[in-house]
Amino acid sequence: MTRYVFITGGVVSSLGKGLASAALGALLQARGYKVRLRKLDPYLNVDPGTMSPTQHGEVFVTDDGAETDLDLGHYERFTGVPATKADNITTGRIYLDIITKERRGDYLGATIQVIPHVTNAIKEFVLDGNDAYDFVLVEIGGTVGDIEGLPFFEAIRQLGQELPRGLCAYIHLTLLPYIPSAGELKTKPTQHSVAELRSIGIQPDILLCRCDRPIPREERRKLAQFCNVRETAVIEARDVASIYDVPLSYRDEGLDREVLAHFGLESAAEPKLERWRTISERVRNPEGEVSIAIVGKYTGLKDAYKSLIEALTHGGIANRVKVNLEWIEAEIFEREDPGPFLEGLNGILVPGGFGQRGAEGKIRAARYAREKKIPYLGICFGMQMAVVEAARSLAGIEAANSTEFGPTPEPVVGLLTEWMRGNELERRVAEGDLGGTMRLGSYRATLAPGSRIAEIYGGTAIAERHRHRYEVNMAYRDRLEAAGLRFAGLSPDGLLPETVEVEGHPWFIGVQFHPELKSRPFEPHPLFKSFVEAAIVQSRLV
Ligand code: GLN
Repeated sequence: MTRYVFITGGVVSSLGKGLASAALGALLQARGYKVRLRKLDPYLNVDPGTMSPTQHGEVFVTDDGAETDLDLGHYERFTGVPATKADNITTGRIYLDIITKERRGDYLGATIQVIPHVTNAIKEFVLDGNDAYDFVLVEIGGTVGDIEGLPFFEAIRQLGQELPRGLCAYIHLTLLPYIPSAGELKTKPTQHSVAELRSIGIQPDILLCRCDRPIPREERRKLAQFCNVRETAVIEARDVASIYDVPLSYRDEGLDREVLAHFGLESAAEPKLERWRTISERVRNPEGEVSIAIVGKYTGLKDAYKSLIEALTHGGIANRVKVNLEWIEAEIFEREDPGPFLEGLNGILVPGGFGQRGAEGKIRAARYAREKKIPYLGICFGMQMAVVEAARSLAGIEAANSTEFGPTPEPVVGLLTEWMRGNELERRVAEGDLGGTMRLGSYRATLAPGSRIAEIYGGTAIAERHRHRYEVNMAYRDRLEAAGLRFAGLSPDGLLPETVEVEGHPWFIGVQFHPELKSRPFEPHPLFKSFVEAAIVQSRLV
């Protein structure tokens, strides 16, 4: 029997609904249930693939090649279950499908309306493919009261009536702000938010209340009374030091107990949270620290690098150190010498990115790391820029560049127009659509035996997630290898460079894929584990 938990948000955005959903997923999993997490996004983009990282944060890529909301990253990291295309949908996608059907004449003359056509499409999405799961947690993006969210709220309201009795719960995540002049945590915004939910027919069963201090008994009572929930269903979600403390903190506050009680599944058994305790303990008690520079272009919004930050934390957990991140806008290095910024840091990371702005700065960062023998990890764009740098400095190809920035006489990085996906040839044209047309999702790669990267992975066959339009140009391979840049990893057909490494450098690796997307706290990605280890070695030299 599949049970549904709908998670909505109120009062303000950015309360961490994704994290809350992921943590609840982890708790239910720790009680032996099979859990699936899905996200409904009310915006009109068909997917977040075309949205600016500085506005929307990272685009999380799934194995099956979907560009999805970054909350799916939390889901994966907390439950270990790989997300798929079918775990995230937007209003844009729903309308695109409906309008395509309408143009085809599939509706046989009917008037297409939000209710029932849009709400039906949402319900079909929510209910599809869940047979194998005990719990499906469905997070609704945005905040109650948003105009564009209404069809989603309406759809989950209808499901409350249509699903068999007792198989559906609503959790509302809200904020209890502390007002210093009154010396109180205020419940009024939550009361209003719940009133708004009830006005569209949804009565929450559980309130998950974000706050920065304990909720006094009186406020709990008030919330229960005014919001029409049980007092035990007012759950305190207090700020914690690390996101990996959230499952434990929810457990202590009784969130899982309350959810199970709602479904009549009370159990005296304790959830198995050993691995969360270990992680929490390790994050809290590091035995040392290292500092890593992240030279990027979206450093103003850390959400743009969500998985990266987490993967570095995991690398730290694996090595029992705290990883301090130094954020540097790549453009600075176009005006100033990187030395004073990078000196004393133990590793340099150039992450994925798009477009020319800051590219020369990233090339300078790569040069600094190579020359000063500081551990360097180049991810996707960070690998491409490292290859351009090596071409210019080591192979003497002075005009080396990427065609992403316009025509160049030496296209060391060029547009990728054809590649194999399994046995199928994928093709793109230069002036095609931007949405969903990159080389996306999991692709296999073969690592050269004896290479540094093969040693790190402990094997030569890997599969990693990709999201790129450009690719290092194989035509330059011989010249670059002769100059000391080894093409250690290739696509299985040998046509696309997947990883490079600088020979004779303590740790200089570029990867065309995004390893950060597959790292988990209890299963740190080997590249991040090794990179942090190299940074520790470097820190002993400083
Ligand atoms: N802009 C580069 C490309 O499209 C790199 C993309 C990335 O870093 N994800 O190939």
